[in-house]
Amino acid sequence: MKIPTGQPALTLNTGAQIPQMGIGVFKVEDAECERVVLDALEVGYRHIDTAMIYLNEQAVGRAIAASGIPRDELFVTTKLWNSDQGSETSAAALDQSLELLGVDYVDLYLIHWPAPLRDEYVASWLVLEELHHKGLAKAIGVSNFQQEHLERVLEAGSIVPAINQIELHPGFQQRPLRAFQEPLGILTEAWGPLGQGKYELSELPGLSDIAEAHGKSIQQIALRWHLQEGVIIFPKTVRKERMIENLSVVDFELNADDITAIASMDADRRVGTHPDDGNW
Ligand code: NAD
Repeated sequence: MKIPTGQPALTLNTGAQIPQMGIGVFKVEDAECERVVLDALEVGYRHIDTAMIYLNEQAVGRAIAASGIPRDELFVTTKLWNSDQGSETSAAALDQSLELLGVDYVDLYLIHWPAPLRDEYVASWLVLEELHHKGLAKAIGVSNFQQEHLERVLEAGSIVPAINQIELHPGFQQRPLRAFQEPLGILTEAWGPLGQGKYELSELPGLSDIAEAHGKSIQQIALRWHLQEGVIIFPKTVRKERMIENLSVVDFELNADDITAIASMDADRRVGTHPDDGNW
């Protein structure tokens, strides 16, 4: 895809590029979501992260259509929900998402959770490989997978996941999992890059000082840190001024001391569900 001028991008294992910054629409209701995505597109975002379970794919699709932006200038991700996992149901789930989104393909299709008690993620992965070969998903990946889940997929499949989308923020940095993924070329996407607002980022010792030194908000420091760590982000906000604030982190830099200081803030502060427990 064409990356917006001035925005960083990473290269997926398919050779395609992904804008490192996008907009996430978790918990944005259908009625509001079209306006939110249109605002995001207007201020310069070209990467949208949704999921079947967010129940807003249709609104995302309406915004894409109304924007008039050519399809190949957008990066659209959606996810396979747990109850659609399995060899018989996964392909139909993507068909439904494509129809709701009003697109012929997604740029990235993810298995949303391993849901280990269902034990269908390996079978689902083999279906995703077929969907990729058919061109319906330009890239395929996983979300909330731990090392053991990735290992099973790598053993059974013939495609290495392009992405693992995991909870990640300065208080929960996921170093061991990222170290496992990196040599395999699996890129990391962060969900909850601001800790979902479930703890005050200012509680992390020293983060406020870094924000003050750069004349930026503490949220901007957290987002900028992800970009410099090589992590893809799509912070969620429904407010246009915050969309602008978040996107503007592309044009300043944290120095080596800042990066070292933030590395020391890793404190196992998981705010979401543990992947082993996401068996809904
Ligand atoms: P987030 O860390 O992006 O936090 C969102 C919260 O931060 C919102 O309450 C918002 O009001 C606030 N916020 C945003 N910008 C701000 C700013 N500049 N200043 C102050 N507050 C600000 O959490 P998230 O929405 O859970 O994660 C981002 C995206 O990741 C989601 O929208 C979704 O697309 C994806 N996600 C995926 C999974 C998964 O299981 N794969 C789980 C959760 C989220």
